[in-house]
Amino acid sequence: MSAPLKLFDTTPSLPAIADAVVIGGGIIGVFTAYYLARRGLKVALVEKGRIGAEQSSRNWGWCRQQNRDARELPMATKSLDLWERFAEESGEDTGFRRCGLFYLSNSEEELSGWARWRDFARTVGVTTHMLDSAEATERGRATGKPWKGGVFSPSDGTADPAIAAPAVARAILKLGGTVHQSCAARGIELEGGCLSAVVTEHGTIRTKTAVLAGGAWASSFCRQLGVRFPQASVRSSILSVSPGAAGLPDALHTAGVSVTRRSDGGYTLAISGRGRVDPTPQQLRFAPQFLPMFLRRWRSIAPGGIEGVCSGHETLARWRLDQPTPMERMRILDPAVDKHTIRLTHSRALELLPALKNTHITAAWAGYIDSTPDGVPGIGEIASIPGFILAAGFSGHGFGIGPGAGHLIADIITGDEPIVDPRPYHPDRFGKSAWGKVADF
Ligand SMILES: Cc1cc2nc3c(=O)[nH]c(=O)nc-3n(C[C@H](O)[C@H](O)[C@H](O)COP(=O)(O)OP(=O)(O)OC[C@H]3O[C@@H](n4cnc5c(N)ncnc54)[C@H](O)[C@@H]3O)c2cc1C
Repeated sequence: MSAPLKLFDTTPSLPAIADAVVIGGGIIGVFTAYYLARRGLKVALVEKGRIGAEQSSRNWGWCRQQNRDARELPMATKSLDLWERFAEESGEDTGFRRCGLFYLSNSEEELSGWARWRDFARTVGVTTHMLDSAEATERGRATGKPWKGGVFSPSDGTADPAIAAPAVARAILKLGGTVHQSCAARGIELEGGCLSAVVTEHGTIRTKTAVLAGGAWASSFCRQLGVRFPQASVRSSILSVSPGAAGLPDALHTAGVSVTRRSDGGYTLAISGRGRVDPTPQQLRFAPQFLPMFLRRWRSIAPGGIEGVCSGHETLARWRLDQPTPMERMRILDPAVDKHTIRLTHSRALELLPALKNTHITAAWAGYIDSTPDGVPGIGEIASIPGFILAAGFSGHGFGIGPGAGHLIADIITGDEPIVDPRPYHPDRFGKSAWGKVADF
């Protein structure tokens, strides 16, 4: 039982030349290619497996400003508008709705953290409502329990991870771009120190611009090019249940469990922040940089197994461009589900929302969440390789900001006014501080 995903038909033949090549067909890659194609560039997207099949179909679907790091908030705000605009522009459905996100808590500490965030958000024009006990209990009546307080963020929403990336890929085709599945990029070629081609398993595409939107595979790919990108993955296990529960909120977070309505009327159930770290040579390589983050989250993160080494996404091995690479040996990262977490999540959800007893489990899956040491993605051109742009490390919140990130990357490539200030995202910052800056909120 893997994550539900709408399948997408691939473009058969690889172009010999393109204005830009996007490597990776997750939400970041497809939105990047979409915004490039809208500007008239001849763009080719190569995906080693299937469009959306890794993190971008395995997430909850939350598109939120609420509780965002200050550096990411402008991109989150723009992204919400872009999700809406994408549907109008393309005629494609990503399942996006501004349904609002609802948080409940009985912890004074958590509530005061949300209140501090609300005060900060106000200063940048983002409205979010703190709920007192009576309001929270009334809005959270499906739980049948009293609550100390909560938050409702009306301008946030959700999109459907099962359909979003394939919808954007179809829009790329409508604009004249090409999308190639089962087509791993093995590396790049340089001419005069600048990027001149992307080498794939099915041939070489000549181009001056390539975007690496490779999710959890980005660091090992960068290593082949002599670029150091600190990245670590956490394995997160979640499940979905069938339609049948009436009167539930569209998207509810509590410390114990979170629940999100899917387009088919079923729900995704998950425990926020809970995951396993599967040790790999790459994890050891970057351990000093990730230590602060793992220490902050030690209660919810447990050691995993050899899953990560077997998957190959965090390999330190060098590969050749004329032979199959780890990406071709692992078309879709589909890590083992942590059964204990699934049982715990399900029982907590039934306890929180008794109406879920009228549903049954339809699927359970795991996904590797790729993170940077400071929890903010690395987006920007790599100075040592003109024409090579990195866009990875979305640290568990890349789905919601996919449109804004894709737009920003297209702005960087075409030299247009950037949709948000690109400086906080530049991967250069990882070279400057070994410890990074821990997220503000
Ligand atoms: C359980 C879970 C819950 C989450 N919940 C949320 C949420 O509610 N809201 C939110 O905003 N975010 C959430 N996230 C995070 C979000 O899913 C990710 O940040 C986002 O999907 C990252 O998108 P991406 O395109 O960078 O990576 P991915 O979706 O992983 O895509 C990368 C793609 O690149 C391909 N690839 C890699 N290397 C190559 C290569 N060399 N050649 C060709 N193709 C290659 C891979 O096959 C893959 O398809 C969650 C993640 C998980 C796992």
